[in-house]
Amino acid sequence: MRLRHLIAVLLLSASACSAGHEHTVARPRGRATAARHTGPAVPATPAPPSPRHMVFHGARDSGMVALTFDADMTPGMWRSLDAGRIKSSYDRRIIGTLDATHTPATIFATGMWIRRYPAVTKTLAADPLLEFANHSYEHSAFTAPCYGLPVLPAHDRTEDVRHAARILRDHVPAPTPYFRFPGGCHDQGAVRAVLAAGVTPVQWDVISGDAFGHDPHAITRTVLKEAKGGSIVVMHLNGAPTAPETHAALPGIITGLRARGLRLVKVSELLAAQSASRP
Ligand SMILES: [Zn+2]
Repeated sequence: MRLRHLIAVLLLSASACSAGHEHTVARPRGRATAARHTGPAVPATPAPPSPRHMVFHGARDSGMVALTFDADMTPGMWRSLDAGRIKSSYDRRIIGTLDATHTPATIFATGMWIRRYPAVTKTLAADPLLEFANHSYEHSAFTAPCYGLPVLPAHDRTEDVRHAARILRDHVPAPTPYFRFPGGCHDQGAVRAVLAAGVTPVQWDVISGDAFGHDPHAITRTVLKEAKGGSIVVMHLNGAPTAPETHAALPGIITGLRARGLRLVKVSELLAAQSASRP
């Protein structure tokens, strides 16, 4: 997958979030005590829980799983859309399946994706099954190296998160205060930079493999094999070429997880259950 990912990044100037690299980045131990809530609060009604530390999954005894879809957009992807090399970077079939099966989900959207698809964003934001979160402005990396993505200077990281948050607030009535690192790449300084913007980094514990995955059955099998109570599953909303088979894998994922008695929820509900379980 790593090789395929690298080739695709080089060819398309695109990017993806789930290249199986979680093991290559440092996880902060415990709470990031150096962070301060210095940025403007992200309005949300009601306010979902926003832990002051990085999140990889929810409570294991919750019986819940959160399906998440990253809406990537880089300047290179934008140019490919303009030039007609990519027809669309929004696979509406994914939302069609979520709606048809009454499945909640969380969309981590880049600011550039929202700017490209403002009407779609408005429609999705009005769907009670869906909630929105922040995936940076233009999907630049918060640490280097990160799969060939351009890297933000360290002093620009907090402002990038705030920039994307402003675009979110302009298009989504009640965005969640969650953020996902482009490419998943982070270190403790990057985590502090995100927390300083008033949002919580939310990663995943299940990589679906939908990024450049061309076998929908393999994607479905991977998720059903690895997901358990509390899991956060990362997938993509972009469709081909970055995530060509997500739409085809999704029905089996939803059916299979529910058959195991797991309840599919938004990230905010998963984390609310986690907060409630704490003393
Ligand atoms: Zn991404």
